[in-house]
Amino acid sequence: MRLAILAAVAATAAAAGLAAAQSRPLVDPAAAAIYHRLLPQIEKIRMFDHHAHPALPNDPDVDAAPPPPGSSPLRMREDNVEPVAAARALFGFPFHDLSGDHAKWLVDKKAALRGQFKGPQYFDQILDRVGIETSMANRVAMADYLDPSRFKWVFFVDCFMFPFDNLALAARNTDEAAYMPLQTKLLKRYAQQIGARVLPTTLPEYLTFVTRSLEDSKKRGGVAVKFEAAYFRSLAFDDPPRDAVTAIYDKYRGGGVPTLAEYKAFQDFVFRHIIVEAGRLHLPVHIHTSVGGGDFFYLSAVHVLNLENILRDPRYLRTTFVLIHGGYPFDREAIFLATTKNIYLDSSAVELLLYPTEFKNVLRRWLEVFPEKVTFGTDAFPYGEALGVEEVYWLGVQSSRTALAAALSEMVAAREITEARAMQFAHAYLHDTAAQLYK
Ligand SMILES: [Zn+2]
Repeated sequence: MRLAILAAVAATAAAAGLAAAQSRPLVDPAAAAIYHRLLPQIEKIRMFDHHAHPALPNDPDVDAAPPPPGSSPLRMREDNVEPVAAARALFGFPFHDLSGDHAKWLVDKKAALRGQFKGPQYFDQILDRVGIETSMANRVAMADYLDPSRFKWVFFVDCFMFPFDNLALAARNTDEAAYMPLQTKLLKRYAQQIGARVLPTTLPEYLTFVTRSLEDSKKRGGVAVKFEAAYFRSLAFDDPPRDAVTAIYDKYRGGGVPTLAEYKAFQDFVFRHIIVEAGRLHLPVHIHTSVGGGDFFYLSAVHVLNLENILRDPRYLRTTFVLIHGGYPFDREAIFLATTKNIYLDSSAVELLLYPTEFKNVLRRWLEVFPEKVTFGTDAFPYGEALGVEEVYWLGVQSSRTALAAALSEMVAAREITEARAMQFAHAYLHDTAAQLYK
C-alpha cells in the first residue's frame, strides 16, 4: 500500500537515541508456553509472500502510482528504530541509527554484497535469509535482477480504465495530479508493447486491445493482475448498459474531457471486462482494499463492502479475487466476504501498519472464521537508498511470524484448536493457500 513509511529514517532515529529493537506481540499469560513452542516451528516454514514490490532503490518500474509524501501512522514514522534491527539482522549493521555515515555504511555494504552475489542471486539470497520461498513482484514491469523462479510478476491494470483526457480527474487534488499522468504513460507502454493504438475506432476494438494486452503480460510471465483503483476512484462498480458506454466511448475517443459520471460508467464497464478476461486467463485479480498513502486517500471509497456486488455476482465465479491488505481497517467485514469460494484475503501491509499486538488480534479474528482463506504478504517496498526492500521484507516477516504464533497460541490456550491444528493453519497462512492459487 506504500504508505509514506520510514521515508527518511536517517536523521531522526539518531536524534531519538533509541537502541534498535523489534516490537513483539503481547501474549495472554495462559498462552505463553504454547507461544514459545509454536514460534520456532513457525520460523521453519518457507513462506509465500502474496504481495510485495521488490526493487533496488530508484527503480522507476517499482510502482505505477507512488503516493506523494503524506502523514504517516506512528509505526511508520522516521523515528521508528525497528528497521535498524532489520539492518543489523540482515547485514550486521553495527550502529543504532541511520544518520549520515551510518546510512552510507549500509549503502556500501549492500553494494558490496551485490558484487558478491551477481544479478538475480542477490535478491535470491535475501529471500533465503528471511525465509521466503516465493515472492510476488507487483511492479510495472519485471526487472532482470529478479529471478523469475522466485519472484512472480503481478501487473497493474488500472490504466485501461483511464484512456481519455484525464484533466478533470487530475484536477481533483495534488495526489491525483501525480497519479493520472502515470496511468496515461503506462497505457501507452502497454499499447506499444503489442503494436496497438490506445484508442481504436470502436468500443469492441478497445476491449480487444485490453484483452490482447492482458494476454501479452501473461506471456511475459504475469501470474495475476492488480487494481489499485482505490487510489483513483471508488471501489463501487455499477453495471452500466453497453449502449451507454458505447456512446461515451464514441464521444471521447477523439478528445474532450468526460464528466465524472460519464467517466465512471466507462471505468465500471471496463473493470468488469477485465475481471472476466482475467478469470478466463487464470490470472487472479488482486484488489487494494485498505487505507492507502497520500493525504487525499478516500477511506469510504475503499470500503471493502463496496465490492460486494462484484464478489457475490455468479458471473464472476471463475475469477479468483484476492483482497489485498485484507480490507483494513474494515477487516471484520472483509473476512465475511471470503465465504464465496473464489475469494481470499491477503494480510500484507497490515503487519507493518499495526504493531504485532494488534495485528495478532486481526489474524486471530480471521483464523477463527475462515482459516483456509487468509494468506501472508509483506508489502515490502524500497523506501530509500539505505533502507531498502530487504529490511521491509525482514520486518514484515518477523511481525507476521510472531503475531501468528501469538494468535494461534491463544486459540490453543482457549481450547479452540489443538497445537497440531494450529500448525496446519500456520502452513496454510504462510505458504500453502496462496501457493495453490498459482499452480
Ligand atoms: Zn503494495
